[in-house]
Amino acid sequence: MGNKTPAGTTPAGTPGPAHHGLPVHEVVLLFGTDTATGLDPAEVVRRRAQFGANMLPRSRRGGIAGKLGRQFNNPLVYVLLASAAVTAFLRGFLDAGVILAVVLVNTLIGFIQEVRADAALDALHSMVRTHAAVVRRGERLSIPSEDLVPGDLVLLEAGDRVPADLRLVRLSAMRVDESALSGESEPVAKDQVVLPRSTPVADRRNMLYSGTLVTAGTGAGIVVAIGGETELGEIHRLIGDIRPEATPLTRKLARFSTTLTAAILALAGVAFLAGVARGEPPEEMFTAAVALAVGAIPEGLPAAVTVALAIGVRRMARRRAVVRRLPVVETIGSVTVICSDKTGTFTENQMTVRVLWTPAGRYGVTGTGYSPEGHIIPPSTIHTGGTAQPPVCLGRDGIRDEALRWCLLAGAACNDAGVRREGATWQVRGDPTEAAMLVAAGKGGISLAEFLAGWPRHAELAFTPERQFMATMHRSAHPDGTGFVFVKGAVERVLELCGGEMDAQGGARPLRRQAVVNAAHALADGGLRVLATAMMRLPAATGALDGTELEGRMTLTGLQAMHDPPREAAASSVLACRRAGVAVKMITGDHVRTALTVAAAVGLTNGPEPGAALTGAELDTIPADRLPDAVERATVFARVSPEQKLRLIQALQSRGHVAAMTGDGVNDAPALRQANVGISMGRSGTEVAKEASDIVLTDDDFATIEAAVEEGRNVFDNLVKFMVWTLPTNMAEGLVILAAILAGGTLPILPTQILWINMTTAVALGLMLAFEPKEPGLMTRPPRAPDRPLLTWALTVRVMLVSALLVAGTWWLFGHELTVGASVAQARTSAVNLFVAVEVSYLFSCRSLTRPAWRIRPFGNRWLLLGVGLQSAGQVALTYVPLMNELFHTAPIGLDAWLRILGLAMLASLAVAVDKRLRRQGF
Ligand code: ATP
Repeated sequence: MGNKTPAGTTPAGTPGPAHHGLPVHEVVLLFGTDTATGLDPAEVVRRRAQFGANMLPRSRRGGIAGKLGRQFNNPLVYVLLASAAVTAFLRGFLDAGVILAVVLVNTLIGFIQEVRADAALDALHSMVRTHAAVVRRGERLSIPSEDLVPGDLVLLEAGDRVPADLRLVRLSAMRVDESALSGESEPVAKDQVVLPRSTPVADRRNMLYSGTLVTAGTGAGIVVAIGGETELGEIHRLIGDIRPEATPLTRKLARFSTTLTAAILALAGVAFLAGVARGEPPEEMFTAAVALAVGAIPEGLPAAVTVALAIGVRRMARRRAVVRRLPVVETIGSVTVICSDKTGTFTENQMTVRVLWTPAGRYGVTGTGYSPEGHIIPPSTIHTGGTAQPPVCLGRDGIRDEALRWCLLAGAACNDAGVRREGATWQVRGDPTEAAMLVAAGKGGISLAEFLAGWPRHAELAFTPERQFMATMHRSAHPDGTGFVFVKGAVERVLELCGGEMDAQGGARPLRRQAVVNAAHALADGGLRVLATAMMRLPAATGALDGTELEGRMTLTGLQAMHDPPREAAASSVLACRRAGVAVKMITGDHVRTALTVAAAVGLTNGPEPGAALTGAELDTIPADRLPDAVERATVFARVSPEQKLRLIQALQSRGHVAAMTGDGVNDAPALRQANVGISMGRSGTEVAKEASDIVLTDDDFATIEAAVEEGRNVFDNLVKFMVWTLPTNMAEGLVILAAILAGGTLPILPTQILWINMTTAVALGLMLAFEPKEPGLMTRPPRAPDRPLLTWALTVRVMLVSALLVAGTWWLFGHELTVGASVAQARTSAVNLFVAVEVSYLFSCRSLTRPAWRIRPFGNRWLLLGVGLQSAGQVALTYVPLMNELFHTAPIGLDAWLRILGLAMLASLAVAVDKRLRRQGF
């Protein structure tokens, strides 16, 4: 079981870990830690050196042997091995050797590709790092989960992924999704009771296991096992591991390949029998049948798909979109609608309070970002209420408004964020909305530390998107036990809790609801995010806080309105999406007016449009049958709850949309799963959301979604290009041989020569198409219909055209060479070179499916040029090197033959160019 605990500290006689069977104080003792202050940093360093990083050992998907083995598990390999055996039996040892060598080379290439694709996927792991909140020497820190050591005190809240195995030391209403471990999909409630040692893992309610997800509540626990020593490590299930899953496309292609292979093998069998029945020598017919099978099977296809997808994954990662599930590389290119959050995605999530409003006045706030520099500017109509007690905190600005002081204090006290100077900048820990309120309070001269010293926090109600407010209860340190409740949250929601409002002297008066709403609307119309604050005095503080006791009893203190600048690239990315035929919708928890202003700023709407916005409440009143229409029409969805998000996605999908959806909260998981492409936020998103998503944006930026769509489209384009390029060769090879068998003549190309063509060109030429840069029109054409076949009718016609040209050209050239006195070997060599020459010239044409070859930047794909160079060198070797002549039954040919070959290849290019032109003109 290894080093579960600091060396030698496992209680004597316990077989394996039994931390669930120990009371907390014993676990604390065992790990030399503390439930309040955690470990000491020096001790952390020591333990880190002793126990290593908190990482699961990488699963080596099947290992090297497995990967190599898989390469042999392929119908073409069976055909080749069988034909090598028969050829050897017929004493064609050299041919059998060549066939075996080809099998080996093919295996090696497949293996290398798989290793590279794996490496590309592995590299993604390090891009989506999980962070853990720990307490070390009394200070709360956010560290990469890898840096956890046994004994660390970890803090957890809803949305977090448990970073190691923990023994809970305190908790509040904690529920955990342990499906990753136990398969049980219902979240389980946790508690702290000491359990019998025999309790099975699934029932250890006082433990948290690495890889499980906290879906509700908060808690703290002591790390008892890390990395491979955790339960998760032991059962070797790596959550969130990116496995090379079969994608719809790879599955479709695999099916296509199998059917095609079976059909070709049957055809080869029939051809063999027909030849033998006609009295041809069986050996020759066997060779011909093998040539037919080997030529017609498109063996390069599966490898090309894998490589194209892996390259797509890598390119997306470079643009900060980390793919968690491979199939999504295909889907993202065909997305027709993107539903995105507002805060952080369209905007920077850099909040600065700009305006403060109280029942007594309106104030400006100067300063930028999270720097504490700035002032609160008095209202235009300076309030000079004859207060006997000047608000101490605002003395320096001469503002005398008690409500303002309480508004700032509520914002600061009902707050879990922190702001810290790091070098020249101020860094936020926690929610930027809360950080902004903390900074505003500082500008107003409020000393939170002083307040908390006298009135420590006693209880709290966390902010959730459903509740839309946060509340904290503070109780006096004095024995009198009086206290306060502070609330901050969405204006409508806080107003529901308020019975009165505070006047400038700090007294309560009846709430003028409409005045508050009007003020909030005016601020939201300016694009500001508005939160209301309220307070309540408690004569003698009660223990718990559940929200119900607040209804109607709070006193509104004011509004805080903050600016969150739109992201620089948002407007251009929205425009790019719209040009690409992708609708963009904003789904936000914020107020509809704020949302509409931001939407207009990033170009989602052209100013106020009727029907452009729907609120969550309105969504609930729309009957199910009219919902899809309404959702299609609207662009902005405000005050939307996570479960309404799910309905929105379903409504869009019912209209045939392929929908991408962003989400960051715990409750966004169902909508993320339902969406065709679920996108989570690498920076601000919860682990639960990341877990449910297909793509993680490492920068949370909307522009990255647009980039991913572009890359997705390019992957598809390059795959289609590869197919259009490779299929004519296979068809033509098959047809040439079939014709030779049926006509009873000499084979124009031998099986080993066909193997040479297929194997070398697939790698040196075809794969290079996967590196093709994006076509200029990529983001101005409409999305690909999900059910559209890979090859459109126009492309199928082109495939047939090129096949026909190849068959006719080979047939003519082979016959012509023989009539001008060439040997059979020389005529075959010319035929092989013709195939490759046509493939090369056609390759340049395939770099774009629509534009003519000369309009494509000639040096746009250096890999392709390198491939062509290699292939040409290979052809020269095949034709003139004696060893190659012997192995592949080729012979040197003269200049005149080369001229004929190049002439025919140019003719073929011309025909393709004419075909492209006709297509462009709409024929
Ligand atoms: P988006 O969904 O685009 O990210 P959002 O961040 O505004 O939008 P939520 O986080 O769900 O959405 O917030 C909804 C509302 O809840 C906000 O408009 C605000 O009034 C209130 N709110 C947000 N954060 C807090 C918080 N930390 N404490 C109290 N209230 C909050």
